[in-house]
Amino acid sequence: VQPTSFEYQRADSWDEAVELMQIWQGEAKIIAGGQSLVPMMNLRLTLPAALIDVNGIGDQGGPRIEDSAEAPVLVIPALTRHATVLTSPVVAQHAPLLQHAVRLVGNVRVRHRGTIGGSVAHADPTGEIPCSVLALGGVVRMQSPRGVRDVPITEFFRTYLTTAAEDDEVVTEIRIPSSVGEPWAFDEVTRRFSDFATVAVAVQARAGRPTVVLGGVADRPLRVADDLVGNVDVRDEAGLDSAAGAVADSVNPEGDVHASADYRRRLVRVLVRRALTSALAPQDTKGA
Ligand code: FAD
Repeated sequence: VQPTSFEYQRADSWDEAVELMQIWQGEAKIIAGGQSLVPMMNLRLTLPAALIDVNGIGDQGGPRIEDSAEAPVLVIPALTRHATVLTSPVVAQHAPLLQHAVRLVGNVRVRHRGTIGGSVAHADPTGEIPCSVLALGGVVRMQSPRGVRDVPITEFFRTYLTTAAEDDEVVTEIRIPSSVGEPWAFDEVTRRFSDFATVAVAVQARAGRPTVVLGGVADRPLRVADDLVGNVDVRDEAGLDSAAGAVADSVNPEGDVHASADYRRRLVRVLVRRALTSALAPQDTKGA
């Protein structure tokens, strides 16, 4: 399989990338790691007239902490490779959920090329990175001819492979409030090691209240309504069962060649229960 022909242009800064995107008036696509875009072009699911290669911009020093008035913010430049997120001590400390989730993305080749900005912009509803970034909260920073804007991650994912980004907007940073010391868990079921998840669950607690995000059950990473899980007490087995059941009842997954809708719903029940327990059980009872 081969893509149709396209123009190739390099941008060595985000300003230049924005300028080129404007010139192509919605007909061009950014190429970052190429790990999702190139297969889609080969299958002719997308036919850009031009590719704007932003790899020359680099990862701008990789993940860093920015102190703000409220709380420290973990800033991850868009071109940070999955492999860098995986080994970053800053991510380990400030967003361990994300680091754990990245471990489960694809294989070693994919993790060395794929970028966090590409993963978030691609918006795969089963993607480990979109799910964990949504659970952590924060904003997607974008740049366009109209300037810079921050879109809350809760408003970013719209539907399958579709986001709040306009045609001429590029993602420059993912900005996540630090979650130092806060409980978290990530779990998923895949058909084979390194496959995309059939169902994934990310849990991030802040100030004792968990946020639960599901992958693989909707047209986008799905944040579970807070009232279903916000007050769950993991020491109360019946309460935990009923919360996991309520979450499973609240989703409306589609069936496909990998799993039926019913099986996906059952996975939600099991994974949510397991992830909430893993995140929130007092240390001395974990694994008991
Ligand atoms: P690209 O492929 O370069 O781009 C993807 C899309 O995002 C394109 O539409 C592109 O125009 C747009 N884009 C990229 N960067 C920007 C930007 N800065 N601003 C605006 N738009 C941008 N992912 C998972 O989550 N879980 C998996 O298990 C998994 N397994 C995989 C297995 C294989 C064999 C392969 C090939 C890929 C797999 N992936 C998986 C996808 C992988 O994580 C990709 O790296 C990621 O989805 C896209 O990142 P990228 O940098 O390669 O983006």
